[in-house]
Amino acid sequence: MIVLDIAVFATADSNWQLALDEYINAANYNLSTFGMRLNVYPPRPSEPVGIPLVGPVYDPPPDYDFISMRPGDLRSAAALVLPQPHGIPVIFTKFHQTGRAGAAILREDRAANRNVDWLNYVLIRENSLNSDRGCLLHELLHAADYNGDFDRFGNRFLHDSDPKSIMRPNPVNGVPPVVYQRHAQALHTSYFARTVGP
Ligand SMILES: [Zn+2]
Repeated sequence: MIVLDIAVFATADSNWQLALDEYINAANYNLSTFGMRLNVYPPRPSEPVGIPLVGPVYDPPPDYDFISMRPGDLRSAAALVLPQPHGIPVIFTKFHQTGRAGAAILREDRAANRNVDWLNYVLIRENSLNSDRGCLLHELLHAADYNGDFDRFGNRFLHDSDPKSIMRPNPVNGVPPVVYQRHAQALHTSYFARTVGP
């Protein structure tokens, strides 16, 4: 069995209750085919670890505006409230920008991280539940450095053109997302994967 360790956080004004369990259950359903599951800290039904910040995160941050909250501010706060790592941080927060249910912040995104060298982590929009429930696993795949076949970003392709794939850019109404072997492989080699049991 392979477990993917995730540590769940929420800002003080987040409605994390809306989507957290739906996303965890959907991810575990899709992962079970590959002998994988999420290992969630704190274990449900405990609440996420609280981050004493409020208001929206700006991703990308506005040019020349150093005050608006950046993803890295949330990540730094997560390290303060939970100094011992428990896997990849998954942070529920308000988003300034519309149109996305979640975001993976990649290590090379120096502006988002204010030049701190954080490993990849995930932000989840607190007030939306995306229609295919695939948001958390989708963002974890980005954070696992999954390389798709379109949407070039730097030296990688972020998404799959296959409209059934969990790595399509957006949910497709009535089409459940499919996880393929190549996705499981990317997760298996991520920094938050761990083999347990015999
Ligand atoms: Zn994506």
